[in-house]
Amino acid sequence: MQRVGPRFVGPALVLAVFFAWCSATFGQEGAAGSQQPKNVILMISDGAGFNSWLATEYYRGTHGREIYDGDGWIKLACTTYPLNTSSKPKNSGKQDEALVYDPAKAWDAETGYRYLKTTATDSAAAGTALATGIKTYNNAINWTDENQPIMGKTLPEIAHGLGKSAGVVTSVQWSHATPATLGGAHNVSRNNYAEIADEMLKAEYLQVIMGAGHPCFDDDGRRKTDEPSDKDCQYVGGKEHWQSLSSGKHPKGWTLIQTPEEFAQLAEGDTPTKVLGTAEVATTLQQGRGGALGLVKEAIVNSKPFEVPKNQNVPSLELMTRAALNVLDNNPKGFFLMIEGGAVDWANHANQGGRMIEEQSDFLAAVQAVCDWVEKHSSWEETLVILTADHDCGLPWGPESDVQPFQPITDAGSGNMPGLHYNHIAHSNSLVPVFAKGAGAARLHEFVRGKDDRAGETWGFSGEYIDNTDIFRLIESALRAGP
Ligand SMILES: [Zn+2]
Repeated sequence: MQRVGPRFVGPALVLAVFFAWCSATFGQEGAAGSQQPKNVILMISDGAGFNSWLATEYYRGTHGREIYDGDGWIKLACTTYPLNTSSKPKNSGKQDEALVYDPAKAWDAETGYRYLKTTATDSAAAGTALATGIKTYNNAINWTDENQPIMGKTLPEIAHGLGKSAGVVTSVQWSHATPATLGGAHNVSRNNYAEIADEMLKAEYLQVIMGAGHPCFDDDGRRKTDEPSDKDCQYVGGKEHWQSLSSGKHPKGWTLIQTPEEFAQLAEGDTPTKVLGTAEVATTLQQGRGGALGLVKEAIVNSKPFEVPKNQNVPSLELMTRAALNVLDNNPKGFFLMIEGGAVDWANHANQGGRMIEEQSDFLAAVQAVCDWVEKHSSWEETLVILTADHDCGLPWGPESDVQPFQPITDAGSGNMPGLHYNHIAHSNSLVPVFAKGAGAARLHEFVRGKDDRAGETWGFSGEYIDNTDIFRLIESALRAGP
């Protein structure tokens, strides 16, 4: 390559040669059997920016000693900005340049918070970027700004085309934005839950769907009705779907499971081929609980992690994860699985620091279960695991960060709430973490787009960042290169 004088070739040729070299290198590593993943597991902590991860580490007393701090893990940051901040297609398809993450603007003491608040993505646009590599407007479920569905190009559809299985697991309703996008649904709006659930249930490319959104239960896991209305059934695709699921005669062959015992059974031994898990709770497994105790919103905001007894009739995200893996690993060609800690975001929206730490802890228990599964039933040579967030939420910073912008959150020791103050009730454009380990993970470095030194100093890494669309690119090329 060095013999080719740059004066005589256009930049396009230089790029082409570079990419050819990259893919040749990747192919060779693959031939050696170390870089071709059979399975890809993408874990998304919704709404968990760096400080949500950090606060949880302080509470757990595990800062610097979490599983993703260990051997073989790559640590980078990721940008999450959308194409535009419209709530419906704008028919332009052009990147709003004002939204593209800029470290100088992000850390400005005067205007930084405002910049980060006004340029943020939602979970639908972020999920579409992760699922398809395409930036779009907020609210889009694998739908372009030119008002077109992104057909056949989502990660589960790609996995299916390669003979692999696919699944989504979440701690919120399984037709919510993140499982909808990573589950390969296509809709102009994330709010069309019944349509989205209907598409997921009919999709040939999904073998596992698990989450909350049960039509007959409330947020405390109490039965509210035996005869749910069509509206009660919106998150599971409407009344007709629910009736045939409940009767065990769904035309698409889904096996419905609901109780923790059923999830536990699924985690061991033989399994059905298609499993729909719908936990007996309304919107989230745990984050929305408290009504039964008569707790008002303020009491939940101020409650410490795990102070309020957990709902007992629902599986944990960790148990769901083990059950999902045991179904998906039936396919000798491998699988794509997305696991979402969906309610970290909801806790941050409500400025519930204690609940945020609970939800992130539950997510980390699922991370542990994934790593245990890799080491027991697979290997890091054949499985790629990526941990990230779809966006930050709440701008949690230090206790006086309202007057002292970007004051670091403070460590109050294991088991104590860290010093933390929320500066927002919605999403921000701050960088989020990306951790990756396993087959093909090292390729993440090829996608680095910039360096944010202040982020690196604050959160203890190089400061280098990729974009959320690059996570799609890595997974797509990894799936296609696989055995
Ligand atoms: Zn949110």
